[in-house]
Amino acid sequence: MDTIPEILAKQRDFFKSQKTKDIFYRVSLLKALKQEIMAREQAIYDALKKDFKKPEFETFISEFGLVISELNLAIKSLKKWTKPERVKSSMLTFPSRDYIYKEPYGNVLVIAPWNYPFLLAIEPLVMAIAAGNTVVLKPSELTKHTSQLITSIIQKVFPNTVATSIEGGVETATELLIQKWDYIFFTGSVPVGKIVARAAANHLTPVTLELGGKSPCIIDETVNLKLVARRISWGKFLNAGQTCISADYIIIKSNIKDAFIDILKTEIIKRYGVNPKESPDLPRIINKKNVLRIADMLKDVHVVFGGHVDIEDCYIEPTIIDSPNLNSRIMNEEIFGPVLPILTYNNNQDIENIIWNYEKPLAFYVFSNNSIFVEQIIKKYSFGGGVVNDLLIHFGNSRLPFGGIGASGMGAYHGKTGFDTFSHNKSISKRGNWIDPGVRYAPYKGKFNLLKKMFKYFS
Ligand code: NAD
Repeated sequence: MDTIPEILAKQRDFFKSQKTKDIFYRVSLLKALKQEIMAREQAIYDALKKDFKKPEFETFISEFGLVISELNLAIKSLKKWTKPERVKSSMLTFPSRDYIYKEPYGNVLVIAPWNYPFLLAIEPLVMAIAAGNTVVLKPSELTKHTSQLITSIIQKVFPNTVATSIEGGVETATELLIQKWDYIFFTGSVPVGKIVARAAANHLTPVTLELGGKSPCIIDETVNLKLVARRISWGKFLNAGQTCISADYIIIKSNIKDAFIDILKTEIIKRYGVNPKESPDLPRIINKKNVLRIADMLKDVHVVFGGHVDIEDCYIEPTIIDSPNLNSRIMNEEIFGPVLPILTYNNNQDIENIIWNYEKPLAFYVFSNNSIFVEQIIKKYSFGGGVVNDLLIHFGNSRLPFGGIGASGMGAYHGKTGFDTFSHNKSISKRGNWIDPGVRYAPYKGKFNLLKKMFKYFS
C-alpha cells in the first residue's frame, strides 16, 4: 500500500497532467459518484444505524438527501460555474476585456467529523472534485462502519490519483497535516481546528474551518408556545442533539418559561414516548467518553425533565435543565447531546450579558413575531448563520452559504459557495491592441490634467 506522501505525490502528478481541468471528466466523476451512492442507499442507512443507531429517516433528510441534492446541483451547474466571468474594465486596463477564471487549487485535504459522518465527508468531496481538485479524505475514526463504506465508495468511483479515502485517527490526521496541501477543508471541534490552522500556516495553505460552539436560541413572549416547543423538540433532538448548529441553550422571556417547559415536555413525549430508550427514532451518543462527558454536565444542575443515562447503551434521555448557573460546566462547553438548558431574560441587557459571555456562535435562533426585535438581534450579534422561528433549516438551502465566524470557523460552503471555496479566483485582463493611449508613458509633463479627467470619467 502506498504511504501518505506517495499518495499525495501521485495526486500531484495527476493534477499537473491537466486531466481534472476537463469539465466533462469532472461531470463524469460526479455522475459515477451519484450512481454509486444511490446504489448503496440501504448500505448507508445500515452503516449509520450500526455506528450510533441513527434512524433511516434522519439519515435520509440530514445526510443522504443533502448529498444527492448537492451532486445534482453540481452536475447541472458545472458548465455555468466554470465559465470565466466577464467584468467591466477600468481606466487602468482600458482597452481590455477583463475576466475572473475559476482555477482549482490543486491537491485538497478534507478532514471530517463523526456526527454527520456521511454528509460532512462527501459534500466537501463533491465540491472539491467539481472545482477540479484532487482529494484525500479522512473520515472520522469514531464511525467505523460509515467510514469503511465511504472508503469503499470512493475506491469504486475514483482512481486514487483523483480521490482517495484514508481511514485513521489522530496519528493519521497528524501525518496528513504535515504534508503540503493546496487547500485544507476541516470540519470538527475548535481545539482541533486550531491544530489544523497551525499546520496549514507552515505551508501557507488556505483553510476552511467548520467548527462548533454554543449556539443560543431566544424566545420572546409574542410567540405561539406550542409551535415553538414542537419545532424545538425536532431541531434540538435530531441526531440526539449531536449537531454543530443545534440550539445549545435557550434564553426565554422569564414570564413564559414555566409554561414553555410544560409544553416542551409534552412535545418530547409525543416524539419519543414516555421511555425514549425504546424509541427507534432517538440515536445514541457516539461513544462512552461522550456519554460520560454529558452525564457530568448533569451534576449540580436542576434537571426538570429526563436525565436518565445508560452508559453501556450510550443513551442519554432528552433532558431539560432549568436556569443553570453561567459558571456551571453545561454553560461553559458545547453540549453536543440531547440536553437543553433554559435561561431567562427580562430585558435586552440580560440577553447581552449572556450572549457576549461567549465566542461568536456558529448558529443563532430567535423565535418571535416582533420583527423589530428580530432585526435588532440579527444586526447586533455576530454569528455564522441562523433561523427566525425554527432551528437548523438554513443548513438545508444550498443558496445560503454555510460557515462560522471567529471561534466557530472561517470560510463557507454549500451549493455554488462550495464550488467557489475550492476555486481560486484568477483575474485576467486581456489587453486590446487597437489603441495604446500615451497618457501613462513618461514624460508626464502636460498630461496630469488629462489623467485626472480620465479618472473622473471612469470612476
Ligand atoms: P474532532 O475535532 O474531535 O474531530 C474531527 C476530525 O479531526 C476527525 O476526523 C478526527 O480524526 C480529527 N482529529 C482529531 N484530533 C485530531 C488532532 N489532534 N489532529 C488532527 N486531527 C485530529 O471533532 P468531532 O468530535 O469529530 O466532531 C464534533 C465537533 O465538530 C463539534 O465541536 C461540532 O460542533 C463540530 N462540527 C462542526 C460542523 C460545522 O459544519 N461547522 C459540523 C459538524 C461538527
